[in-house]
Amino acid sequence: MRVKTGVATDIGRVRERNEDSFLVDPPIYAIADGMGGHRGGAVASELALEKVEELSHAGKATLADMVRSANRAVFERSMSDRRVTGMGTTLTAVQVGGGGAHLVHVGDSRAYLLRAGAFRQLTDDHTLVNRMVRAGEITRAEADVHPHRNVLTRVVGTEPDVDVDEDDIPVMDGDRILICSDGLTNMVAEDQIQAILEATPAPQETADRLVKAANRAGGIDNITVVVLDILEGEDDAASPREGSREGRTTSGGAAERRATQTSAGSWRRPSRAMVKRWSVRAAIFVIALAAVSVLGRGYLDRQWYVGEASGHVVVYQGIPAELFGLRLSHVELETDIPADEAAALQFYGELPDGITANSRDEAIAIVEQIRNDVKAAEVATP
Ligand code: MN
Repeated sequence: MRVKTGVATDIGRVRERNEDSFLVDPPIYAIADGMGGHRGGAVASELALEKVEELSHAGKATLADMVRSANRAVFERSMSDRRVTGMGTTLTAVQVGGGGAHLVHVGDSRAYLLRAGAFRQLTDDHTLVNRMVRAGEITRAEADVHPHRNVLTRVVGTEPDVDVDEDDIPVMDGDRILICSDGLTNMVAEDQIQAILEATPAPQETADRLVKAANRAGGIDNITVVVLDILEGEDDAASPREGSREGRTTSGGAAERRATQTSAGSWRRPSRAMVKRWSVRAAIFVIALAAVSVLGRGYLDRQWYVGEASGHVVVYQGIPAELFGLRLSHVELETDIPADEAAALQFYGELPDGITANSRDEAIAIVEQIRNDVKAAEVATP
């Protein structure tokens, strides 16, 4: 298989910076849509794709392993650099070769396949609304206009580990693969995207026309598209050409986060007899505490999750963990939703462990979703 590529990225008409990045480094093609305050979004998307590029050149890791390493790299940077705390990125990548395309995906960027007039989405959006669509709670059309359609359920870089979707697609001569950020799909309807793909033979012109269409429709987000035309012939050399990446920064409209103080927790002063026994642990504790204060405070301030307290669903600020008995979170918002009813529902089984959110607003959106679902379940089984 040979691949002919068209690439375009654009800031759009509203955002102040472009936080999308792309990687064209045959046989790997990827895009990443970063999120986070200040420079965070651009740093996350660039760093993630740099990591993929670096590992692909080293030539040992699988594509999914590259994404997991990228996740770790973004997470560690986020933990160690206050300026980019809480940043994350989507990552959708395709590796073409051997008669197939290997696809990996986290987030709400998308990959599509156009084959002989049929256009289908290859990726599954990791969004709250997509969960709702799959559960039959709302239609796809309702999801497209849902106020919380941008709430992601999976992101690269916000947790130490990430689940990566993987898929293998056999490809054939004449196939066209599109990888794009939500700046395209939120602005341009799928049938219109398909029409542009079908009407434009040259991949670069296609990429440019897709960006233009998104901007004409308002361009409210950064737009990035990679168009891959699959042609018969020898595989593109795995030996890399010069890879190209783009990443630009914006004010990060995605992450207006309120910084409030995390609770300090409390612990008892140890008795004299206990001091020796505890000294080693105390030393570790002090080091860990210092690490949390210096590196982690900004991080904890910006982490949110939905969990339970006193039998009710609540929003926590911090992370669902303890460090030597010191809780790393506090209740930010209480609700009257019974936690056991919520946890019994299909999607909220992880409630006792905490459902993480990228912002306070997102945590509240999740709570509202739980409230609706609990209500619906009550109606269904009075
Ligand atoms: Mn976007």
